[in-house]
Amino acid sequence: MDSTADRAPSHLFYQTRQRRPLLERAEGVYMWDASGKRYLDGSSGAMVVNIGHGNPNVLAAMRAQMDKATFGYRLHFETEAAEELARRTALRMPEGLDRIFFVSGGSEAVESCIKLARQYALATGQEQRWKVISRFPSYHGSTLGALALTGTATMTQPFAPMMQEMPKIPAPTCYLDRDNFSDEERGRRYAELLREEILRQGPESVLAFIVEPVGGASTGALVPPDSYLPRIREICDEFGILLIYDEVMTGAGRTGRFLGVDHWPAARPDIMALSKGFAAGYAPLGAMAADGRIVEAVLDAGGFVHGYTYAGNPLACAAGLAVLDELERLDLPANAARRGESLRTALEGLMDRFPFIGDVRGLGLLQAFELVSDRDTMEPLPKELNAHARLVDIAFDKGLIIYSRRTRGGHKGDHFMVCPPLIVEEAQIDELIGLLGDSLEAFAREAGLPLGT
Ligand code: PMP
Repeated sequence: MDSTADRAPSHLFYQTRQRRPLLERAEGVYMWDASGKRYLDGSSGAMVVNIGHGNPNVLAAMRAQMDKATFGYRLHFETEAAEELARRTALRMPEGLDRIFFVSGGSEAVESCIKLARQYALATGQEQRWKVISRFPSYHGSTLGALALTGTATMTQPFAPMMQEMPKIPAPTCYLDRDNFSDEERGRRYAELLREEILRQGPESVLAFIVEPVGGASTGALVPPDSYLPRIREICDEFGILLIYDEVMTGAGRTGRFLGVDHWPAARPDIMALSKGFAAGYAPLGAMAADGRIVEAVLDAGGFVHGYTYAGNPLACAAGLAVLDELERLDLPANAARRGESLRTALEGLMDRFPFIGDVRGLGLLQAFELVSDRDTMEPLPKELNAHARLVDIAFDKGLIIYSRRTRGGHKGDHFMVCPPLIVEEAQIDELIGLLGDSLEAFAREAGLPLGT
């Protein structure tokens, strides 16, 4: 059967008119379409399937839960799956973030974080605090509240009249800076931009600052200098502003530790959003973890005015619990750290062959590379080459899935996430790099770009 054969489109609403092959099955790091073609999932979907596809233990746990109950409304029942997942999740959180609130995805998790922060301000007599500062570039979700925090103009502009856009500061894109500062000094300087913005906005009006500890797809795996987040924490403390970490992409082992914040434990957040790898694509699931002091104040003031019908869904929570078991049993954060090193070295190795790779960056198995027309100036490739889409399509044809974006602060660059499942083996990294090399070569020939040695 032709996997892209014409299908009645009326029941589907494609984001673009481009059809995709029919997915037949998926196992480990591989996926197969209906024609039998195999793909290496080099981006874990959208950085989701951290434990790999088709994990039998997770499937068994989900079947067991299905035999008991698939739905229980949270205002009627507690469920063992949700209670146990909350308990086990809290154990992995930074000290004090022991209250867990379940949702169905990343955008809902971010919405929950900002609404909890606002209700905390109201509960503690700080009604004037409502502004949530974020960064550009950034991505925090597609619902209007989370979108207001998202620093990607093409996504926010169409909806600008419909939402309260929030103030934004530049993310620490040190790799673009051509000054004489060390990265540590740059990290402190980028953090000071938050202080300046707080003062510009009026500190009494600022509720929170939200940040991805390691930037996701909007930045191409932007790792901050070690000085950055600790200084951000100090600045938030100075003004009594809540610090929210969006760990939707960085959580669940992706960066080589269980959480992104585990690389900078002193820079502890007050509230955190989780999703993606948390249930690894086995069920729609996300969570907010919050400091007990915040939750208690809100509950004392009458309760958290927020919630979703599917929150704490037992089937989703059973999947999340089994995923957490697998992350721990297989020590996948450690594997992400180890394999991340090999992947990084191999990606850097491609820079000799392809002079138009301008930068390779990332942490653990959250790795990315950026294509440019000049490595010294980091001048982007001409827009007409449409590199972010073309390279992904060429790779897809060759059986490799990678994920791309064309955004970079005020610039317009093409970067590509290379983020296989955390179970990836050394030989599969070699296979991935082989396919990627072939794809880059085909793209270079098509685009008329020079090849190196
Ligand atoms: N925050 C971050 C950092 C993300 O990467 C994403 C998804 N790409 C979201 C929030 C939104 O998650 P979802 O698509 O599950 O709503």
